[in-house]
Amino acid sequence: MHELYLSGPGQIGLRNMKPLPDVREDEVKIESIYGGICGSDLSVYLGSLEHAVYPVRPGHELLGRVVEAGGSSGLHAGQRVVIQPNTYCGRCEWCLVGKTNICPHKKSLGVNMDGVFCSRFVIPSRYAIPVPDGLPDERAVLTEPLAVVVHAFKKVRIGQGTKIAVIGCGNEGMLAAALALYMGAEVTAMDINPKKLDLVRQLGDIRTAHPDEIAEEDFEVVIEAAGVRQSVEKGVQVVKPGGSLVLIGLAKEATLPVIKIVRKEISIYGTIIYKSPEDFRQAMEYLLDSRFHIAPLVTGVYPPEEVEAAYGSALSGDHGKVLLKF
Ligand SMILES: [Zn+2]
Ligand SMILES: [Zn+2]
Repeated sequence: MHELYLSGPGQIGLRNMKPLPDVREDEVKIESIYGGICGSDLSVYLGSLEHAVYPVRPGHELLGRVVEAGGSSGLHAGQRVVIQPNTYCGRCEWCLVGKTNICPHKKSLGVNMDGVFCSRFVIPSRYAIPVPDGLPDERAVLTEPLAVVVHAFKKVRIGQGTKIAVIGCGNEGMLAAALALYMGAEVTAMDINPKKLDLVRQLGDIRTAHPDEIAEEDFEVVIEAAGVRQSVEKGVQVVKPGGSLVLIGLAKEATLPVIKIVRKEISIYGTIIYKSPEDFRQAMEYLLDSRFHIAPLVTGVYPPEEVEAAYGSALSGDHGKVLLKF
């Protein structure tokens, strides 16, 4: 049994694990199958996420198998599960109306508490969501990042022929472009990296462009997934009058033309992670349909022993989703 650990920014390694605690009634012990490396893992690795703590075991996107289930967990050994990696108190004003994603007591696995990039771990069963039979492992591991997009898309209406722009083609941007295409939208994806645009085109009939090439103001929906000032400002520029800008990225700040937003009645939404379990279940529904084409999104699979190479390729900016196979 081994685990990845970060003793500080830039210092990642693999080591043997201490024995696991006993599984309590409402807990499950999980054996890891696949882990996905996410932008926030890279920020924790680089030391650029303010609320990260060290030392920490990284990782929050995980598909695993239950190997031991507590009596009241509602799960059983052998079941595959994905992890909902953000804790919530269940008692605050927001949790009580189902908005666990903005619980002020939220902690994030792999950021400010130990994550799940390890052979086995024990977790409360409410954070383990069963995966339906028939959903392949390689797709199931994308449930958590896709749930972010599912949640964001609930802010707006996307359907047949909706003109949508996705700015920023990291993992979330690519998933947003793929899901919008699957829903019948007319998708334009923008990124400053031509290698990312090559990848996006493999997802299907998606128009791709450098942001500087797009000046028209005719997108009903714009998804900002780059998390930088320029892409937020670009989003306001290209959204159609009456349209919506949905912010998934974590840009620190931006300068916005307020008069334009008011006169054109543009709606701007902030959206953070997801509601659980409903957004996870919805994400798995999409993933169950093989017509939802996302295979090109995964561009690398590494064993945990090669974690530095895995993080290196994820950090290069030229790749899609990089997975760890436990
Ligand atoms: Zn993630
Ligand atoms: Zn709460």
